[in-house]
Amino acid sequence: MREQRDYLTQLDAAIGDADHGTNMDRGFASVVAKLEQSDDAMPPGRILITAGSTLVSTVGGASGPLWGTALRRAGRTLGEQEEFDGADLLEALEAALTGVVELGAAREGDKTMVDALAPAVRALGERLSSGASVSQALKAASEAGEAGMRATTPMQAAKGRASYLGERSIGHQDPGATSTALILSALAGAVA
Ligand code: ADP
Ligand code: MG
Repeated sequence: MREQRDYLTQLDAAIGDADHGTNMDRGFASVVAKLEQSDDAMPPGRILITAGSTLVSTVGGASGPLWGTALRRAGRTLGEQEEFDGADLLEALEAALTGVVELGAAREGDKTMVDALAPAVRALGERLSSGASVSQALKAASEAGEAGMRATTPMQAAKGRASYLGERSIGHQDPGATSTALILSALAGAVA
C-alpha cells in the first residue's frame, strides 16, 4: 500500500476524492504498528480481526469499514486455530466477500472492489476443487482479481463516490478494485 499509495490516489482523483492511497496506506501502517505491539502468538484469525478493527478505526473513507469488515469476517471463520488449509482460506475469503456485499450492497459490474474480490474467490474455489495446491489456486485467484480490476475501466459506477459522476466514471479503473488486486497478489506471494 505504501509503494502504490500515489498510484491509488491518482486513480481516486479521477473518479473520487483523491484519498484512496492515503486511506489504505494510513490504515495498513496502523495495522502493522498494532500487530507489532500485540502478542506474537496470536493465531491467524485473531490477527485478521485485529487488523480489521484497526482499519475501521483509522480509515475515514468507504474502504476502511469495507476492508475492516472483510478482514474481521475472515478472521471469525478461522477462529482460534493455529493453522489453516486451502478450504479454510476459501471459507475465510468467502466470508470476507459476503461481509463487503452486506455492508456496501455492491454487485459485480457496479465498478467497486467487489469486481476484483468476487472473481478471485470464485477462481480460488474452482482451482481448489480441481485439486490445485493452495499456492497455485491463489495465483489463479490473484490473476482473476487483476482481470476483474482491469474490467472495471469500461464500467459505469453504481456505488460509492464514483457513482455521482454517472457516465463520466466510464474509462477509469476503480481504485478500490485496484487495491483489492494488490492485496490478493500479496496474499498469493506470501503463500508461495
Ligand atoms: P471514499 O470513496 O469514501 O473516499 P476510498 O477512496 O478509500 O473511500 O475508497 C473508494 C473505493 O471504495 C471505491 O473505488 C470502491 O472500490 C470502494 N467502494 C465504495 N463504495 C462501495 C460499496 N458500496 N461497495 C463496495 N465497494 C465500495
Ligand atoms: Mg476516496
